[in-house]
Amino acid sequence: MKIIMLGAPGAGKGTQAKMIAAKYDIPHISTGDIFRANIKNGTELGKKAKAYMDAGQLVPDELTVELVLDRIKQKDCIKGYILDGFPRTIPQAEALDSALNDRGEKIEYAINVDVPDENIVKRMSGRRACVNCGATYHIVYNPTKEEGICDVCKGELILRDDDKPETVAKRLSVYHDQTQPLIDHYDAKGVLHTVDGTVDIDVVFAEITKFLGE
Ligand code: ADP
Ligand code: AMP
Repeated sequence: MKIIMLGAPGAGKGTQAKMIAAKYDIPHISTGDIFRANIKNGTELGKKAKAYMDAGQLVPDELTVELVLDRIKQKDCIKGYILDGFPRTIPQAEALDSALNDRGEKIEYAINVDVPDENIVKRMSGRRACVNCGATYHIVYNPTKEEGICDVCKGELILRDDDKPETVAKRLSVYHDQTQPLIDHYDAKGVLHTVDGTVDIDVVFAEITKFLGE
């Protein structure tokens, strides 16, 4: 089962991808999480990626594509995987399609989580991420049991720098310019499924599992 998640920043891709990964027992591969782990560990890649991320821009394709193509060759990807936050540009999608095609494989499901821009800023300002394990919550829509403390690992929760309203506006404009065209790209391949992302988390998940199967 090879799945990609499409949708604006804050549409709920990560939230749904984690639930899908758990249900179908496949790895959840988030390029945003990989970059944030590199920033935390002070790697060269992390230093390069941080400048783009803080500015609300995309990390260049040449730093992103090989990273993902290497990751999906790992053993744990044999049964499939869910890519969250990749591809984000047409060249990334073409590189992925071509690498899979060389192995006689393809993306089977592109799930587009549809949320209008008006809802996104509210979502992002309430998002909280665990500094330790990367789990995400929302102060109103998906709160932790104990305020400010991660349910999974008891780590501290923070508002991501790139979730501040001025950066979110930039990220949304980058999304419309560079990532939204992927909806047509995967629709033309007959693998696109769009779900309404404005309803409750469990309702979105139920919609997704309807076409992924029980
Ligand atoms: P993305 O991975 O697309 O950037 P997230 O999964 O991190 O988005 O979700 C963004 C924020 O919105 C998080 O705070 C999350 O808890 C919250 N959220 C996700 N799905 C929903 C939903 N269906 N309704 C309300 N809030 C949601
Ligand atoms: P995310 O956690 O998916 O919201 O990603 C956070 C940030 O990481 C984005 O705003 C980009 O700067 C960067 N990023 C994540 N995935 C990609 C990608 N596939 N291509 C380019 N930049 C990315």
